[in-house]
Amino acid sequence: MNNHKLSDKVALVTGASSGIGSAIAIELAKEGARVVINYRSDEKGAEATLSKVKEAGSEGYIVQADVSKEEDVSKMFDAARNQFGTIDILVNNAGIQQDDAMVEMSLTEWQRVIDVNLTGYFLCSRQAIKEFLKRECDAASKAIGKIICVSSVHDIIPWAGHVNYAASKGGVLMFTKSLALEVASKKIRVNAISPGAIKTDINAEVWSDPQKAQELLKLIPYKRIGDPEDVGKVAAWLASDDSDYVTGTTIYVDGGMTLYPGFVDNG
Ligand code: NAD
Repeated sequence: MNNHKLSDKVALVTGASSGIGSAIAIELAKEGARVVINYRSDEKGAEATLSKVKEAGSEGYIVQADVSKEEDVSKMFDAARNQFGTIDILVNNAGIQQDDAMVEMSLTEWQRVIDVNLTGYFLCSRQAIKEFLKRECDAASKAIGKIICVSSVHDIIPWAGHVNYAASKGGVLMFTKSLALEVASKKIRVNAISPGAIKTDINAEVWSDPQKAQELLKLIPYKRIGDPEDVGKVAAWLASDDSDYVTGTTIYVDGGMTLYPGFVDNG
């Protein structure tokens, strides 16, 4: 008997050539989804994700696109449709940091982070919703489509020196809720996952240095830096009918980072 929760489903994961996006693609594949693996420049990374998707017993398809570019996103959805017929699940994951103190921050650093982390989510979600609305709700799945936005604990924890990044993720929080409200009656679910500190390229400089890693652990009540799979497993649940009554929610996958760790033994 096939116990896979996403059999017959097609998922598109942006920024799936590394880190959290790659782990999400693999976890979705383990549940039977066929996965469109988006990458911007790291083709080798995308191929490594594809191998693992196949090892998990599913199929994958690699598409290059810059999610901040309208034409690229449109072509990516066309390519995905040509390959697998439709898209049932969109995971908005591609994100960047370009850190600087406010007075040093160039307009380019500000704009690029907003373009990828927020406008990219808008462009991909708009395409996905158009695709979902082409079909009626079927018996095999309760929702006609699901969108999962990878946000960050910095959608609620302020972050000095990272104003562009925190503003983009704060934007993702209200983007998720507002869109969820707008499309709920159409049977489309929109949720977000906000990771804390997860071991990926984006923060390798911190967790690969033992001293910096110790400092980071002070901010994590659960005393473990997260792995990409921690996020991947939550994404697989949000993509499945097991979470059918969940929409407009942000799940913090952060080992307690948002619990005000400074209050653990005082206050
Ligand atoms: P990562 O750098 O490994 O992954 C980011 C991915 O996005 C890369 O594959 C990159 O190529 C891709 N990307 C960047 N710009 C793109 C574009 N214009 N078009 C398409 N793809 C593009 O880092 P990660 O930690 O896996 O980050 C994934 C997501 O998780 C991001 O949205 C990030 O903000 C979020 N996040 C990460 C952490 C963490 O601790 N690692 C914490 C909170 C949130």
